[in-house]
Amino acid sequence: MGECIFCRIAFKAIPAKIISETSLALAFHDINPQAPLHVLIIPKEHIGSVLEIKAQHSVLLKEMFLMAQDIARQEKVDQSGFRLIFNCGPHAGQAVDHLHLHLLGRRKLSWPPG
Ligand code: AMP
Ligand code: ZN
Repeated sequence: MGECIFCRIAFKAIPAKIISETSLALAFHDINPQAPLHVLIIPKEHIGSVLEIKAQHSVLLKEMFLMAQDIARQEKVDQSGFRLIFNCGPHAGQAVDHLHLHLLGRRKLSWPPG
């Protein structure tokens, strides 16, 4: 598991407000939300970033996107709209080096992002 904070959350070694879980992926509320709804969807296995995604991760990625869809419907932002983001590397502000899909919603989001 090592020191990776999202691996520790995936192993339930540290708490998180988990809202959805499958054998491959986990979704929980961001600790520092940037919108009224801010959820992170992570693979349980450690993948450092988008740059480490391999063809063998296709089932996992499908699961993460289906989870995002389910959460959007459950949280009732499917009609109002929401944003999915993978930050990758320093210029995108990636702070945690474990792949995570941000789901942001319940407010109007500006474009282009800062
Ligand atoms: P990023 O900048 O794309 O790497 O996003 C990392 C996100 O992880 C930020 O939005 C943080 O607020 C969030 N975060 C960091 N630690 C935790 C934690 N222990 N539980 C929930 N969210 C976290
Ligand atoms: Zn990790």
